[in-house]
Amino acid sequence: MSRNYDIAELKRLDVAHHLPAQQDYKLIEDMGGSRIITRADGCYIHDGDGNRILDGMSGLWCVNIGYGRTELADVAAEQMRELPYYNTFFKTVTPPAVLLATKISSLTGDRLPHIFFNSSGSEANDTVFRMVRHYWKLKGEPKRTIFISRHNAYHGSTVAGVSLGGMKAMHAQGDLPIPGVEHVRQPYWFNEGRDMDPIAFGQLCASAIEERIIAVGPENVAAFIGEPVQGAGGVIIPPSGYWQAVEAICRKYGILLVADEVICGFGRTGNWFGHQTLGFSPDIISMAKGLSSGYMPISANAVSKEIVDVLKTGGDFVHGYTYSGHPVAAAVALRNIEIMEREHLIERVRDDVGPYLANALATLNDHPLVGEARSLGLIGAVEIVSDKETGARFGGKEGNAGPIVRDLCIANGLMVRAIRDSIVLCPPLIISHEQVDSLIEIIRSSLDEAQEVLAR
Ligand SMILES: *Cc1c(COP(=O)(O)O)cnc(C)c1O
Repeated sequence: MSRNYDIAELKRLDVAHHLPAQQDYKLIEDMGGSRIITRADGCYIHDGDGNRILDGMSGLWCVNIGYGRTELADVAAEQMRELPYYNTFFKTVTPPAVLLATKISSLTGDRLPHIFFNSSGSEANDTVFRMVRHYWKLKGEPKRTIFISRHNAYHGSTVAGVSLGGMKAMHAQGDLPIPGVEHVRQPYWFNEGRDMDPIAFGQLCASAIEERIIAVGPENVAAFIGEPVQGAGGVIIPPSGYWQAVEAICRKYGILLVADEVICGFGRTGNWFGHQTLGFSPDIISMAKGLSSGYMPISANAVSKEIVDVLKTGGDFVHGYTYSGHPVAAAVALRNIEIMEREHLIERVRDDVGPYLANALATLNDHPLVGEARSLGLIGAVEIVSDKETGARFGGKEGNAGPIVRDLCIANGLMVRAIRDSIVLCPPLIISHEQVDSLIEIIRSSLDEAQEVLAR
């Protein structure tokens, strides 16, 4: 089944020739190369050293239907044999692109009926950037160029993605953000609002958007962009009422509302999209990751009729990629969605395994290191603190404990990610109750071990 790789040689070549994503190259060199993942099945990944690891992250927030779906391999092979590639520049399109666009529209309840394809989440947000500014220009309000986003938001790694995003460390590399992006506070109750009622804190964070709109002049603001639940920022689930307040502010000032659904889309929160769970209505969505469950690189924007009607008055919209609507990626994404429907994975997250994970996470609340364990659907986080009462962090600053617990979890057979001092979780939507139990057990025993290390 599994090929006989020379793992030591691959690690040597990795250090010599391969530059990984978002990584410290020197650290990888000192480690003697990255961990080599050779195969995967269901909710498990396997590495070259013979370890089987429960994937608590769905790859990178994306393998929603789990690994090992040979049906998707068959669809890809069939499509490659029939038509491996054609573009959408030449007044041409392929059947999978049309059918996938139609399907995605239906998942929005046909509220956002027009679909533009890209290959990554970052590219989808670049599309938002250009499309929104072009829209306002055509509409006769060319001054509306400013995007409002949030500190600690993640919108990708391209120039527009990093600029729209609110990651300080990313801004510091490459002289970003580009002009025209304003960042306001995030609705991160555990870190920034614990002395307040959560609902009141959510309203306060929403009002920061209105204050910024007024400060820069409403006539200059193009759009607000946000992840329904911030993912890479540390699974920040906004207090209820936050998104309703944000939406009301956008409507009050005639500003477009963009939902970055790259993580929240495709069942993660128990609906097709996170905005459906959180109860607001965006004008544009960016989606990627779960769209194909990571089996192919593909992303999309779903856009309102109102916006596209305006774009239709402007001649060519000179934007698009060689791989926009790639037929193999589109065919795989379409079948991925069909599998989610056939297996009722959305309902399963909403009614069954999402609540099951929430209950299991709640059992961690009695652990001395746990400040908060939270989740929505199948996305969650465990905040690690040195003092449960005050929420103080180990060593007096964030980021000391998270990587220790993460490394212990991985050594104990669970792949998770540490974001500052939280362990974040995003397992495949097919995860069983038994696998949730073992995920929680591994976190608990890793926290126990970390307690000994951190006490020193
Ligand atoms: C991952 C992510 C992106 C970027 O997607 P890429 O495919 O890595 O370019 C954008 N927005 C959000 C919310 C993401 O989680």
